[in-house]
Formats: sequence, C-alpha cells, structure tokens
Amino acid sequence: MSETSIDLQEFHWMMGLLQTIDVGLLVLDKDYRVCLWNSFMENHSGKQARTVQGHSLFELFPEIQEQWFRQKTRSVFMLNTQVYTNWEHRPFLFRFANYRPITGRSDFMFQNVSIIPLTSVHGEVNHIGVMVYDVTDVAVNRKALVSANQELERLSRTDRLTQLYNRGYWEECLVREFKRWQRSQQTPCALVMFDIDHFKRVNDTYGHQAGDEVIRITASALRQQLRETDIGGRYGGEEFGAILVGADADGAVIFADRLRADIEKKLVLHEGLEIRYTISLGVAPLSNDVTDTKEWIERADRSLYHSKEHGRNQVTLYFDALKSTTAES
Ligand code: GH3
Ligand code: MG
Ligand code: MG
Repeated sequence: MSETSIDLQEFHWMMGLLQTIDVGLLVLDKDYRVCLWNSFMENHSGKQARTVQGHSLFELFPEIQEQWFRQKTRSVFMLNTQVYTNWEHRPFLFRFANYRPITGRSDFMFQNVSIIPLTSVHGEVNHIGVMVYDVTDVAVNRKALVSANQELERLSRTDRLTQLYNRGYWEECLVREFKRWQRSQQTPCALVMFDIDHFKRVNDTYGHQAGDEVIRITASALRQQLRETDIGGRYGGEEFGAILVGADADGAVIFADRLRADIEKKLVLHEGLEIRYTISLGVAPLSNDVTDTKEWIERADRSLYHSKEHGRNQVTLYFDALKSTTAES
C-alpha cells in the first residue's frame, strides 16, 4: 500500500469515529454557516447534515444569542486561540432535549462547549470547530449535591421539635447582630428571652407529649409575631429567644407583651384535655454599655428572672429589673 492510500484509509477511519463519537462536532465558516455536522448533532437536533449544510447557525438555532456567540468566537478567528463555555455559566449552546432516564430530572441537555480554530493549508483561520459535550449527568448530580448540602445545613441549624433556629445557630445570629450594631449603631436592636411558666407541672399533669405540644405551640406563636428581620430561636428546653432588629425598648416591650397576651389566651387541646399556660419574659435593649453577647443575654435573663419572681405571666424591661434590684438591696 502506498503512503497516500494509508493516509486515506486513516482519514476514512477517523471520519467514521468522528461521526459516531458521543460528542457533538460541527464546523462553521466565517459567516457562521454550517460546513460539518456529525451524527450526534443530527440525533439531538433532529436536523440532518444535508439540511443544515450551508445554512446560518443563527437561523437554524434561534436560541443561540448571535451577538454573544460572535463575540465569544472572535478571538478564535482573529487570534487562533481556543475558547470554552461551561454549563455552570451557560447551561447549553443548543437547546437539546434530555432523554436519559437516569438524569430525567432535567428537561434539557447541559453542555460544555469547546471552540477551536481550524487553520487552512495557508495558516489562515477561516473555519472554527465546535465540540459539544453532554454534561447533563455531572450537572444534575452536582445540583442534587448542592441542594442536599443546603438541606443538611438547614437541618443543622434547625430545632427538630419547633423548627425554630437551634441554640447554636441562634447564638451565632446574636453575635452577628451584636457586631453589626457595634459597627453602625444606626438602628436599635433588642433581645427578648422567655420561659414557659411552671412547665414541669404541664409535663407532670398531662405527660411529656403534651409538654412537647405546648412547646410547639409556643414556638408557632413566636413565629407569628416575628417580623422578617427578627430572629427567633429555641434557647433551651422551654426557653426561647428573639432578636428584634430595629426595635427600641418600647417596641420590644410591646412585642413581648403581645406575645405574652397571645399565649395567655391560648387553649391547648391534648387528648381531650384542655391546657392553659403562661410565659414570663425579659427584654434587654442593646446599648453602649453592653460589652458582649454574654452580657446581653445575662441582662435579658435577669429581666426574665425578675418577671418570674414577681408573679410570672409578665414582661420586665432590663432597666426596671435593675431599678427594682437596686431598690431591694
Ligand atoms: P418556672 O415557671 O420557674 O420556669 O418553672 P418550670 O416548671 O418551667 O421550671 P423549669 O424551667 O426548671 O422546668 C423546665 C422543665 O422543662 C424541665 C424539663 O423536664 C422540661 N423540658 C425541657 N425540655 C423539654 C422538652 O423538649 N419537652 C418536654 N415535654 N419537656 C421538656
Ligand atoms: Mg426553664
Ligand atoms: Mg419554665
């Protein structure tokens, strides 16, 4: 066999391979007319090579943004360099349906695309080669992983019983809000801590399940009172905290008393029994002399304790707790 016939043979093999490879291959000329179209492209676009050849890519596929694609490929023609598009930035070049059963969670095929210069025998770039990779499996799996991680993160900061933030995450929020306040000192901020009154009695009289139900109902009452920017959390067994962003002392006391009154009139039904209960609250507005979040919580807790000491089912503002302690001592 002569050298030329070997070359021809190899060329023939190569064409066969390129036709059947599971990658989209096309060649475009300077006017973005299709010069080559392999069977991957035929199968996924539903357009045969002979029907697309010589036609403008933008007329054949209106989903391709002409201006963007021209811009993207300019350097391939002018500078003889390769360019890529990634599914994370642009999900696809061609809007092909996704038929794969395993990745059926996506309606379309995610694609990575490489665009290479094709030089003529004279070294000029009059054509570009476009390679389209189906990366639907990768994309769908990555997206599933991202959403699983987000769900894990949500679970790790959520209290199971109440769906409020758990103590760890709520305390992180408290630190964040404290720092934010220290930086700006523009908007006021107040902390409300509260605890269910005589909760042991609820458990002892009606059982632990009933106790859980009371905790859940308290949490949902809190959630209803919170504004978008407020941050509610379950601090301990039957203790809760609410960070009221933008609330001054008066606003926080109004909030706390509304919650107190709401709980007071609730009738919890558990296995045919009616349970009534109350909560005691402490309010600590943020001010310059609060040194850290520990001190902030202590102020709210001290006010809460004052409410307990003075008959429960009431709200105490930190300054009033302070005054009364000073008066008593
Ligand atoms: P006080 O008015 O002084 O707050 O009285 P109290 O009975 O509420 O006192 P205390 O705060 O000491 O009691 C808390 C009880 O809450 C003790 C604990 O068994 C119960 N508890 C803590 N977590 C849970 C929970 O998740 N579910 C139930 N059912 N009970 C809980
Ligand atoms: Mg308690
Ligand atoms: Mg209690």
